[in-house]
Amino acid sequence: MHTPRHARSVAELEESEVEAVATALHARRQAASAEGFAYVQVVLNEGRVAGSSLPHSHSQLFWLREPPPAVLEELPMLEPGRCGVCDVLREEHLEIALRGDVVALAAPAGRAPYEVVLAPSRHAAEPDEEDLVDAALLLRDAIRRLRAAEGPVPLNAWLHTGGHWHIELVPRLTVFAGLELGAGIYVNSLPPEEAAQRLRA
Ligand SMILES: [Zn+2]
Ligand SMILES: [Zn+2]
Repeated sequence: MHTPRHARSVAELEESEVEAVATALHARRQAASAEGFAYVQVVLNEGRVAGSSLPHSHSQLFWLREPPPAVLEELPMLEPGRCGVCDVLREEHLEIALRGDVVALAAPAGRAPYEVVLAPSRHAAEPDEEDLVDAALLLRDAIRRLRAAEGPVPLNAWLHTGGHWHIELVPRLTVFAGLELGAGIYVNSLPPEEAAQRLRA
């Protein structure tokens, strides 16, 4: 639970509440590491369509013995010098907002309309506590911008670490069907430049 108050979205949280969530997240990540877990998968689901089991704003941490397949798939392209996240950060025209060292950009090849990537501008594998606070506040900002553009949309977000750490935010305005799930081909009718412009507004 992100707050004892009844909040349905991270967008509704106070700054102090977001900071408390990020600080707790950092502590849980360290505790998992101390207990020998190689990876902590952090996920945020909002809305029933996005798989949220509770209407009250919350996130989930899965302590894993090894990094999950989606993270392993990204690792080869996350080395300094040939890093996919560093490449995304160079697309300055897609920038939406920044906080501290963390930047939010419209994903250049988003699977869904308004997909957003949040990442530190310098290549770093793991976020420290300050990074997590900045990233969480920037995520709240991105969700607020999304709601201003489209209303309270269901969404998924998750943290990826180990290469160039980042958060992926995927609004669930479209339904993934046979082509998406069977072929891995995502039809997204909103160009990233347009998404960036609407989210900046
Ligand atoms: Zn990088
Ligand atoms: Zn990722």
